Formats: sequence, C-alpha cells, structure tokens
Amino acid sequence: MSEIRIDDLPVREELRGKSPYGAPQLDVPVRLNTNENPYPLPDALVERIAERVREAARHLNRYPDRDAVELRTRLAGYLNDTALPDAAGHRIGAANVWAANGSNEVLQQLLQTFGGPGRTAIGFEPSYSMHALIARGTGTGWISGPRHDDFTIDVEAAEKAVAEHRPDVVFVTTPNNPTGNAVPAEAVLALYDAAQAAKPSIVVVDEAYVEFSHGASLLPLLEGRPHLVISRTMSKAFGAAGLRLGYFAAHPAVVDAVQLVRLPYHLSAVTQATALAALEHTDTLLGYVEQLKKERDRLVAELRGLGYEVTDSDANFVQFGRFEDAHAAWRRILDHGVLVRDNGVPGRLRVTAGTPAENDAFLEAVRALAKDAAPAENDVKKNEEHNA
Ligand SMILES: *Cc1c(COP(=O)(O)O)cnc(C)c1O
Repeated sequence: MSEIRIDDLPVREELRGKSPYGAPQLDVPVRLNTNENPYPLPDALVERIAERVREAARHLNRYPDRDAVELRTRLAGYLNDTALPDAAGHRIGAANVWAANGSNEVLQQLLQTFGGPGRTAIGFEPSYSMHALIARGTGTGWISGPRHDDFTIDVEAAEKAVAEHRPDVVFVTTPNNPTGNAVPAEAVLALYDAAQAAKPSIVVVDEAYVEFSHGASLLPLLEGRPHLVISRTMSKAFGAAGLRLGYFAAHPAVVDAVQLVRLPYHLSAVTQATALAALEHTDTLLGYVEQLKKERDRLVAELRGLGYEVTDSDANFVQFGRFEDAHAAWRRILDHGVLVRDNGVPGRLRVTAGTPAENDAFLEAVRALAKDAAPAENDVKKNEEHNA
C-alpha cells in the first residue's frame, strides 16, 4: 500500500511532480521565518474571545451567518477608520467587503471567479509564492512578470507584459513579500490602466502587510475603479495567524461575483465570533504594530551597519544579503537557534521582526556571519528552486 505515491494516482497533469507550499515548521528557540506577530494576544482579548465563542457555541446546531454581515460591517468600519480617514470622502460598507478563511482563501475565490482554465494571471516576481500556487490550483495559467534588480517593479516592462499577455488577473503585492518594499500608488495606477486597456482584467492589490508600512493604504484608489480589489488579512498586524481570517474590499459587484464560487457557510460561527472579538481590540493590537515597526527599522539599521545589503522594508520583515550561498547562510543562522526564511531569492534571506530579545538573538547570529556577506557587485547566483 505504501508504494503508491501521488504520481501513481490519476492527479491533474499540472500537479504532477509538484510540492505543496511549506515553510519549514522547525522546533527552534527563535522562529523568525513566517512573518507572524511575535506577541501573543493580550489577556483581555483572550477573555473576550472566550465570551464570544461561548455565546456562538450555543448556536452551533445551526449553520453560521452565510454572509457574515456583522463581521463584514466591522471590517468595513476598521478600514474606514484606518485607511479612509476623510469622513467627507469615500466610505465603504459591508457590501464592499468579503471575508474568508485567510486571505489565501479570498485569493483562491478571486481566481476561481476571474481566473480558471483558459485564463491567466500575472505577478511580478519575486513575490508571494501563493499567488502562483493558487493560480495552479485553480487551473489558471501563471505569468511571471519582471522586476528591477533592486526589487522595485519595472513599471514600463510590467505594462508591456500586461499589454502582451492580456492576463485576466494582475497581482500586485504591496508591501511586497519577500522583498519588503512598497509599490508606489502611481505604479499601481499605471498597471491598473494598462490592465484595463488590455482586457479589461481584475487587479488584486495584496496589502497583507500594509499596517506596517511607512505609507498609506491604497484603499482610496477603489473609488471609480470597479476592477480593483484590495486584499487584507488578520494574520500579520492583528497577530491572529491562527484565526485564519482574510478579507478584501472592492466594488460590491466583485463581492457579488465571488458568491458564485464560495462554499456555503465557509466561515464558521467560531471564526466569525473570534474575529469580531479581535476587532473590538484594534487599538491594542495596532499598538504592537508600532513596536514591531521600530524593531523592523532597528533590524534594517543594524544589518546595514554590519555591511549587509538590505532592501527597504515597509513590512514586518527584512530581506538581507548578499550571500554567495543563501541556503548555507540560512543553515548557519539556524545553528544559532534562529530560524529565518530562504525564499529562494538568489543571495538573499528574509527575517521577520520578532520581540526585541528574538531580534537580538538574530543579530548575534548574523554578526558571526557578516564576513561571508559578499559585496553588492558580486554576481547574483542563479537559483533553480525559486520558491518565494
Ligand atoms: C502572509 C501573507 C498573506 C496572508 O495569508 P493568510 O491566508 O491571510 O494568512 C497574504 N498575502 C501575503 C503577501 C502574505 O505574505
């Protein structure tokens, strides 16, 4: 029985020989590899979650609110408060917001709706590897778009690629993962216009890390742009990766469209109750974000001080290098009990901003390594197993 492997099964052609997404989950003292928030939820919030979940538990004999209206209303309120501060201007409501089990599910629903067999999506790589994996899982063709050597998007080349391939979905991640840099609003607007001229297509701006950014959310761009979607998550800034709650904001027609593919009752009553409790504690949670931004800036400064080449970061992580052999460097850092991420970007590693003590442990480990960081002019090593 055990000799039967995946490829002996009649799996879809495009899945043959592939591996699942997976950052190593190793049991080491300092884990700075998956961009989680290092701070456990505060006691008051844990209590509130227990209360809300206890209440929800009484009704678990029934299916949950299929449309998650209360939650979507609260998420809209959060977005209005934090990203659309001008009360006289554009406001969004529950009809503009859709939620699912992590933004990965949100993105999957978007590709099920706007991608699929015979259609394509483009992303500008290195970027979030799940965009390509979800494309594959939904039968959507994937196009890898260009970036400059400094990891900013080459807007001119990107516009050309969009005009040439006429993708159905365009992904822009800002701040970008794994590189950390934000994409200027003008670049997103240029891509949106190029995508509309070419197809028109849906442009998904993945703002998973935007709460950590020096700049503002692109949410105000939604007004007058019915093909723009901004996706968000509670996994990073809210410190609730274990909750699995992602959402997007867009024109209500986009929300209506994803109803065609979402599973009924996809968001459990327990998840909705927990997310609602977390949204009551936004202020505390965003307080941690301020601390993490300071730690992120400290990591950038210290790494640069040690002679590393560091990509500007608007996220809760930092990309640094260069290494002749990034994987060997990853291993040596691991030898110090610190787990960082090798995303397959040649010569680079990524570290998540942790608690001050965790970051100290990391800095100690890379201090020992500093002499191995090659000068910036060095050839960038080609890396086959690109799995950002
Ligand atoms: C972490 C991350 C997500 C979050 O995924 P969830 O499913 O919400 O946990 C989405 N997009 C990017 C770019 C990420 O790095």
